[in-house]
Amino acid sequence: MAVLLLAAASGLLAKTPVIGISAYSESGRCQVNMTYVNAVRMAGGVPLVIPVTDDDAQIEAVLSTVDGLVMTGGEDFDPLKWFGEEPIRGLGEVVPERDAYDVKLVRAAVAKGIPVLGICRGEQLLAVAFGGSLWQDIPSQVKDSYVKHRQSPTSGAWGTHSIAIEKGSLLSRVLNGRTSAVVNSFHHQAIKQVPQGFRVVATAPDGIIEAVERSGRIASQYGDGGAFILGVQFHPEIITNAGNPEFLPIFQKLVEEAARQ
Ligand code: MN
Repeated sequence: MAVLLLAAASGLLAKTPVIGISAYSESGRCQVNMTYVNAVRMAGGVPLVIPVTDDDAQIEAVLSTVDGLVMTGGEDFDPLKWFGEEPIRGLGEVVPERDAYDVKLVRAAVAKGIPVLGICRGEQLLAVAFGGSLWQDIPSQVKDSYVKHRQSPTSGAWGTHSIAIEKGSLLSRVLNGRTSAVVNSFHHQAIKQVPQGFRVVATAPDGIIEAVERSGRIASQYGDGGAFILGVQFHPEIITNAGNPEFLPIFQKLVEEAARQ
């Protein structure tokens, strides 16, 4: 009983982790969907929206105040700038200032050993920032892809395609040992080349990569503090925010890792 009380008391005294959330910059606004904010809160973290900037000092300063980081969804990455491919016709909107901000922010966070959860574009960012590449447009580039990865206008609260999750992976362990799930899907890009230090831990039935996580050291030209990194191509924050707790453990894991900072 005394041990339980002590554990409870230390839990109360522990610092509540601050979870940075990368902002979007469309329409001259600095904003994120409330679904990210709410999912972080539901997992016990304090959300802090980080405005788009290419100023290294600003990024360093804000990262000194956060314990964990969520990289959010959004537009397409500039393929020529980030992985040396000419843009194909199926490429969507590119927002150069957000590309630069996302890459700087995630590289700085990983170098400092801040735990990172990448969602959708934020998962693709892990490939872009650390030496991998993307499919610019799945429908025109991946012949065998028959799964509908853009479920709009179907609500994101509803999962539409299945994924297989690698047994024993961090993602599987976080989800209580599950090896499959049904996820929502709002993307036409996906990771093509997985960079050093990462491995694929979930795929759709057509082979499209649906989650990656740290498997070792990131390539030596990037700083690596060795902390938790998980990227998911789907949107667990929308499902969590809708009141379905199936993927809440993903956010709880981030908060738990952040609490050790
Ligand atoms: Mn998908």
